[in-house]
Amino acid sequence: MMGQQKSEPQLFNYAVNLEKRVRANHPLRQVKAAIDFSFVREEVAPCYGSNGNESVDPLVIMKMMFLLFFDDIKSERELMEVIGERLDYLWFLDYGLDEKIPDHSVLSKARARWGKEVFESLFVRTVEQCVEAGLVDGKKLYVDASLIEADAAKESVIKGAPELIAALKRAYRATESKLEETSTPESYQAVNDRMMSRSDPDAACVRQGSGQSRPRYKHHRVIDDAKGVITATETTPGSIAENKKLMELVDQHEQNTGCRAQIIVADHKYGTSENFVACQQRGITSHMGDALGKAQQAREKSVFGDEVFTYDPSRDVYLCPAGQILKPRRVYSIRRTVEYKSSARICGACVLRAQCTRSSHGRTVQRHEKQAALDVAHTQAHSLAARRDRKRRHHLMERSFADAANNHHFKRARWRRLWRQQIQDYLIAAIQNVRILLAHQNCRKSAAAAVSLQKANLRKRCEVLTLVSFMKFRLRSASFARLPR
Ligand code: SF4
Repeated sequence: MMGQQKSEPQLFNYAVNLEKRVRANHPLRQVKAAIDFSFVREEVAPCYGSNGNESVDPLVIMKMMFLLFFDDIKSERELMEVIGERLDYLWFLDYGLDEKIPDHSVLSKARARWGKEVFESLFVRTVEQCVEAGLVDGKKLYVDASLIEADAAKESVIKGAPELIAALKRAYRATESKLEETSTPESYQAVNDRMMSRSDPDAACVRQGSGQSRPRYKHHRVIDDAKGVITATETTPGSIAENKKLMELVDQHEQNTGCRAQIIVADHKYGTSENFVACQQRGITSHMGDALGKAQQAREKSVFGDEVFTYDPSRDVYLCPAGQILKPRRVYSIRRTVEYKSSARICGACVLRAQCTRSSHGRTVQRHEKQAALDVAHTQAHSLAARRDRKRRHHLMERSFADAANNHHFKRARWRRLWRQQIQDYLIAAIQNVRILLAHQNCRKSAAAAVSLQKANLRKRCEVLTLVSFMKFRLRSASFARLPR
């Protein structure tokens, strides 16, 4: 049965009034004023029965999990120990001085019972509040991803045939659902088919930079241009490529902010043909780095690039710099491209051959089925504005990820399995948004205080000037009266 926190102040408790003990500008006081956590009770009500033992109030549990990441407390055990010692925490949770602090296990039980949806709601609510406060522009968005170390050692990784690993993962899920009365969604993407961590089978073994491969998750994030508010997040196993999640993140951004995306800024990992075409189809300007351009750069340094070949739509052929024809030869359905090829005999006798191709079979050119859209996207991606935006993206994203890592335990998973990692990421993103919201409110307060101080100073100066003018007038009148008539 769902319990409810009784928040009547304890009038006779050592004459200590927590309300007075917590300073006016305490961050938690601002959080409590800014965020209404009461929505949790309504959202998780279906998870509780109508009789039996009363649970700890879901609102209190959510606040406790918020504190865990807000102050980056080492563990849930430590959080429960600290709550009883800190007046500000007791006040934030509406606990009295003598009230019993629940066992740390209530937090893990609540997570298993609620699932990740309520935490997603908390995150979406913070985005909506930022939109209401005018902190979100919504038109230009920056996208990036970062790896997170799973709560599993690299020694826990076992290797085997794909069938064996798939069977092990199924068995692990079945055992876990029996133990925890919860089920892991079957929609998880198959990752690392030949290896699996026995500690956390959802994490994928990936390398970061030149480091060793180990179980990791990947956090995908969208940041708004105006104030750096996080408007969309997604967590996947570490092996899922960044570019696969771009359009899902754009959809999520538009849904959360209610604004249509107009410009997407991302690095070259996102600049695939699919993403460029998808952006053009939705009327979005793509300021993403060009992945194709990067791959082709080395080749194009020594030979002609595809752009020097002219497409003739009436005949569906390409014309090379020597005026020869390249005809369609093969269709690549996965890449959605058509390959055009010149005659090996003609190329063999061409004077431009050294600059055109190193192959003895003639020159080929690839054309995407949406090449016109792709050309527009490539022009946008190479513009000056796009290069400027990508520089700004670098600072904005790094700042956001660094803030999460330094202050909110972002770089390492606290719990195991993907759905728990998603909870962690929603909480961290929500906290970062709340901090942006509070900083904005404080800014507005300081600006209002500065204006009122200015007004007060001006009023004082006016009063002094009036007094001085009046004194001068009196003096002049007195001297005039003393003059002989
Ligand atoms: S090498 Fe072949 S494709 Fe290249 S310019 Fe000469 S004829 Fe044209």
